[in-house]
Amino acid sequence: MKAELPAVTLPGGRQVPALGLGTWHMGESRVSASAETASLRAGLDLGMTVIDTAEMYADGGAEMVVGEAIRGRREEVFLVSKVLPYNASRAGTMAACEASLKRLRTDHIELYLLHWRGNHPLAGTVEAFEALKAQGKIGAWGVSNFDESDMKELFSVAEPVRPAANQVLYNLARRGIEFDLLRWSQMQGVPIMAYSPLDEGRLVGHPVLEEIGHIHDASSAQVALAFLLTKAGVIAIPKSGSPERVRENFRASEIRLSSEDLRLLDEAFPPPSRKRPLEMI
Ligand code: NAP
Repeated sequence: MKAELPAVTLPGGRQVPALGLGTWHMGESRVSASAETASLRAGLDLGMTVIDTAEMYADGGAEMVVGEAIRGRREEVFLVSKVLPYNASRAGTMAACEASLKRLRTDHIELYLLHWRGNHPLAGTVEAFEALKAQGKIGAWGVSNFDESDMKELFSVAEPVRPAANQVLYNLARRGIEFDLLRWSQMQGVPIMAYSPLDEGRLVGHPVLEEIGHIHDASSAQVALAFLLTKAGVIAIPKSGSPERVRENFRASEIRLSSEDLRLLDEAFPPPSRKRPLEMI
């Protein structure tokens, strides 16, 4: 990992950079595949070694792009993929993982997540995750789109083992988790992976972010990411299919937001004052 990126410690003690790479919408078109591969490699060159993907994205197409991007440099990468809830029975999870490994052209996934809660009982999914771990096919497991009550239920189902991460929607425009889930996760030592950290691009060009960016000679996207980097135990995973924008996103780690910057952000994007159900994209 490059020294510039802050790190987050996972429950097993492993450290990963707090800024990674998303892949949703990658692999959807052949035309953009080489730029997507180049973007992921540009991120790896900078030490953005957490790559987040899922069997859902482009029906496995994103995993194939990732497989190509990490060819020859597997050792550098902390791979995250996800099983769809419809596949998350005990047997279904095992089969889905095998299929993901094939598309990723690797023999293990560092972190394997349940994409969101579905109808299969959590106990069966956890059993499969633990079996995959025992077989060395995954290094750790976790969940995505789990609110605090879901996490508490999961803890009781999985005991004595625990999830290694919870990936949820978190960005300046969606600060709901700051009311409860974020602090609870920090206390439990379960890292939050902040997905859609640029609110799917909607935060780009926001006037207040532009204004703060002006002070730091930075873009609005960089300010949005720098905000997330101020939060302990949070890994942001912006997606870009452009190597230049990946490099731009990396430089968010160089920004030190002042208390006045943070005050302006709170004014433009007020933190939550009451509990709201976890939002999902
Ligand atoms: P995002 O990262 O917030 O935003 C991506 C959009 O922003 C893309 O349109 C991208 O366009 C643009 N962008 C990126 N960097 C930029 C920059 N510096 N300047 C201007 N535009 C920029 O949204 P996301 O892809 O939804 O979320 C990130 C990752 O989180 C996903 O890719 C996926 O891995 C994960 N995710 C997980 C879940 C879940 O349920 N677990 C749900 C959603 C997302 P270009 O590609 O053209 O640069």
